[in-house]
Amino acid sequence: MRAAVVGGGIAGLSAAWELACLGAEVTVFEPGRPGGKLLTTDFLGRPVDEGPDALLARVPEGVGLCRELGLGDRLVAPAASRALLWSGGRLRPLPEGLVLGAPARLLPLARSGIVSVPGLLRALGDLVLPHRPVQDDASVFDLVAGRFGPEVADKLIEPLVGSIYAGTTRGLSAATVAPQLLRAAGQGRSLLLALRSSGRAAPGPARPGPRTPAARTPGTGEAAFQGLLTGLGSLPSTLVDRLVGDKGARLVGEAVNALEVSGTGVDVVTGAGRTWFDVAVAAVPAPGAAQLLGSVVPGEQGLRHLAATRFSSVAIVTLAFAQGTWDLPADLSGLLVAPGSDMLMTACSFGTNKWPHWSAPGTTVVRVSVGKLGDERWADMDDEVLAGRCCAELGAVLPPGPLRSGIDRHLAPVPLPGGTRVSRWPSALPQYAVGHLSAMSGLREALARTAPMVAVAGASFGRVGVPANIAAGREAARTVHAHATRA
Ligand SMILES: Cc1cc2nc3c(=O)[nH]c(=O)nc-3n(C[C@H](O)[C@H](O)[C@H](O)COP(=O)(O)OP(=O)(O)OC[C@H]3O[C@@H](n4cnc5c(N)ncnc54)[C@H](O)[C@@H]3O)c2cc1C
Repeated sequence: MRAAVVGGGIAGLSAAWELACLGAEVTVFEPGRPGGKLLTTDFLGRPVDEGPDALLARVPEGVGLCRELGLGDRLVAPAASRALLWSGGRLRPLPEGLVLGAPARLLPLARSGIVSVPGLLRALGDLVLPHRPVQDDASVFDLVAGRFGPEVADKLIEPLVGSIYAGTTRGLSAATVAPQLLRAAGQGRSLLLALRSSGRAAPGPARPGPRTPAARTPGTGEAAFQGLLTGLGSLPSTLVDRLVGDKGARLVGEAVNALEVSGTGVDVVTGAGRTWFDVAVAAVPAPGAAQLLGSVVPGEQGLRHLAATRFSSVAIVTLAFAQGTWDLPADLSGLLVAPGSDMLMTACSFGTNKWPHWSAPGTTVVRVSVGKLGDERWADMDDEVLAGRCCAELGAVLPPGPLRSGIDRHLAPVPLPGGTRVSRWPSALPQYAVGHLSAMSGLREALARTAPMVAVAGASFGRVGVPANIAAGREAARTVHAHATRA
């Protein structure tokens, strides 16, 4: 069986691996560097991730693929997991008892000082307000604000969930990004009581930034996240080596312009011509995916949904400082920034605490996330200006260590020589609109009905996150393989 995979991100490479393991002759079309958002490069002599750095262990396909490829002994749990919130002009601990940012307990929330007294009184309303029927989907903001009031939604959900997508929870689909909250909201009158009785302490988002208090998988006690000592970028590079070296797969450095059903198979159309395959998996981001599939399922509503999907652009600014610049207790993994500040920084990871293997002796590494939907001020700044701005914001926010004690906070700390790296990720994170999952299952049904030799996988077609997209890639591969074997 001749199989084409379009897109060499983690979804496409996982599809290619599954197809190759099933015995197919695989060609991967990828015009850029294989790996997509997964990239690890040298930073002051250490392998430091430029994009994703952690796999959600609850979705087993991530760590499972690492073990299958012989990377199991490089898996490493984060050494720190406690996060702070920059809110109302100061750093505050995140209250205990949050489930994806929504409170399952009100006392810790009251003590945290994050929400005002009127905001807390409104949150109490959740216990007495009548039950509202829950729709199949709603925006995360509406779902939470409807029970706890807008202040809880703005000050907790927006930084904890919105920051994962560098977007706003006002537009994000709860069914896609917070299914636990949607399920709990449907369970009874009070969302708080449903969250508490579900006993689920924050299973955690798919794209990890700084952690909420629960960094263990409930029920197993295992670390909720895993990284790789050689960086997550070593996952796609190992996949490519094994695909090409062991399985004889071909990697073609061309973009695919269209897929066209042809007889029992599919033509893959590139600038260089067309090539026929028995099956194809499309694993490219929207809106390109909509164009790619335009003649496979013409007029399908899911394609319009893909074409209309908005993306946020982000940058990760990695900075190394002399040890002693900051006073960061070892259990702190990072901070999140609540809306309302003028900062570019939306979150910051204390790399040295979280991944000790990132830092050379005597250095402290931090990764600052900037950019979100509607705030692309960073995109017009050159690397030096952007890094300088991040240093200034860190100086204003982080507790100074011995090296900065007595220094005016307006004086930005200076990174070590070679200790600055800017990784730009334009159009990186899909903003899943309400109804996203049902539009995508409609698209998959249309493909199964009219073009079963083609399947789709990747963050634009499902959920964000490396393990989720490994699972989706492998599933898409099994779907087309099963079709071709039956045919
Ligand atoms: C800064 C950042 C940090 C993140 N952190 C985490 C994290 O810690 N943990 C986590 O689980 N997730 C994280 N994520 C999310 C995660 O990286 C993505 O959800 C996942 O990598 C998406 O994989 P993908 O294969 O669907 O897409 P991509 O990685 O975008 O790959 C798509 C590929 O398709 C190729 N392509 C595009 N058009 C064509 C075409 N016409 N023909 C052929 N090829 C084409 C592209 O070149 C690209 O290589 C993060 C994302 C970002 C941006």
